[in-house]
Amino acid sequence: MVYGDYEGVMGLEVHAHLLTNSKIFCGCSTKFGAEPNSHTCPTCMGLPGALPVLNKKVVDFAIKLGLALHCTINKKSIFARKNYYYPDLPKGYQISQYEEPLCTDGYLDIYENGEKRRIRIKRVHMEEDAGKLVHESTIETSSYSLVDYNRSSVPLLEIVSEPDIRTPEEAVLYLKMLRDVLIYLEICDGNMEEGSFRCDANVSVRKKGASELGTRTELKNLNSFRFIEKSLAYEIERQTEVIKNGGEIIQETRLFNVDEGITYSMRGKEEAHDYRYFPEPDLLPLTVDEQWIEDVKKALPELPMEKMERFMDEYNLPKYDVEILLSDKELAMYCEEVIKLFPEPKTVSNWIMTELLRELKDGNVSPKDSPLSPTHLAELLSLIKDGTISIKIGKEIFPELYKSGIPPKRLVAEKGLVQISDESAIISTIDSVIARFPKEVGEFKAGKEKLLGFFVGQVMKETKGKANPKLLNEHLVKRLKS
Ligand code: ADP
Ligand code: MG
Ligand code: ZN
Repeated sequence: MVYGDYEGVMGLEVHAHLLTNSKIFCGCSTKFGAEPNSHTCPTCMGLPGALPVLNKKVVDFAIKLGLALHCTINKKSIFARKNYYYPDLPKGYQISQYEEPLCTDGYLDIYENGEKRRIRIKRVHMEEDAGKLVHESTIETSSYSLVDYNRSSVPLLEIVSEPDIRTPEEAVLYLKMLRDVLIYLEICDGNMEEGSFRCDANVSVRKKGASELGTRTELKNLNSFRFIEKSLAYEIERQTEVIKNGGEIIQETRLFNVDEGITYSMRGKEEAHDYRYFPEPDLLPLTVDEQWIEDVKKALPELPMEKMERFMDEYNLPKYDVEILLSDKELAMYCEEVIKLFPEPKTVSNWIMTELLRELKDGNVSPKDSPLSPTHLAELLSLIKDGTISIKIGKEIFPELYKSGIPPKRLVAEKGLVQISDESAIISTIDSVIARFPKEVGEFKAGKEKLLGFFVGQVMKETKGKANPKLLNEHLVKRLKS
């Protein structure tokens, strides 16, 4: 997209649902999709006198993400009340972190056109989600709304970036990488349809090279990568037009209309909330000591960017392969297990990217549920490598191996697919073929070398594809030339 002398400036605020069993301030379940209002108690329904108790797991998860994003983990942080009224918010305020959040000043690296770009992270803080309104109407009644408090007080992390993002494509790369990090850390399932990973985007434009930021608008609740990219592109273009025509951008919240592909104003700054933040009197300041941070650090798994670099450096795999293999954490783990048993990464990668992914996609199966285990795939590749079967046979039996889960060695033996590597057997088949096609032999000897393929085909036909191709070629040429 070209905006002439102007460039887009974006900062994103992401909300991620945490995979804790219970809510942030009470013991109610966080499970999605339960009977409405079945996961509630006086605390998460905001009944008078009920008191919040902080879930330690939420802090663990927040520290985990903070460390993964290279943030400072603040030893002291404060919960605050963000006051506003809405029927899905029974207390009349949301408990969040405001002035002193747990994690500050980090960064997330992304790859863009083969180059590393660093997006600074301003803060990561903990907060509770609100409940959900369900709007209904029937023929008998006019429209009405129901409220479901199951989501009330489900733990969230809010991740706020600095305004370092310049294009809609870059915004999507950042979001995908951030989502991968959350998934690799096993603290969020990243499910955008269920709202476990949602994004608000702040957008402004300015003259290229300017150091000051322009006035921004905020796009709310973007929940698919495609819509995010589209709405940001639209908004940058809209703002650029306004400024080029001598107009001014008004700071406001805008919504993206999916059907029309445009954004429109939802509320202006005049109506902007004054949330009257103040420290939450029912919770002590949170203190995190060095030991706690160290314990979380020790248990950190390998992160997507590290894995990516290791796959390229240690396994020497091309970027293209790495992107496919790491697009799914389960697939990356599957791949590593196979490489451990069969240390030829490129061969492993090829078989996974073609044969295995085709089967998995056909059946919509996750790699961890693959009926063909990493051990069996490694066994198949060893059978090919040591010449027991040919690559061709390997590919032919792949679907059956995949579906049946039978160990490759057994299937190959049962089906009598073991490659013929007995030289005398190969030579006698070659001789019988040569005897049957004297005319072709003559032509070959007269210089029609491409007939070699014809003879290979005939021998393969007689051996049902089992002749060891290397031996076959060697002896065939010798016999034909003698
Ligand atoms: P607020 O306190 O109003 O929420 P913040 O300073 O916390 O504002 O910023 C919220 C988000 O908006 C951050 O992601 C930040 O990077 C982004 N942001 C701030 N100013 C701009 C701007 N002028 N253009 C684009 N994004 C911006
Ligand atoms: Mg904010
Ligand atoms: Zn509860």
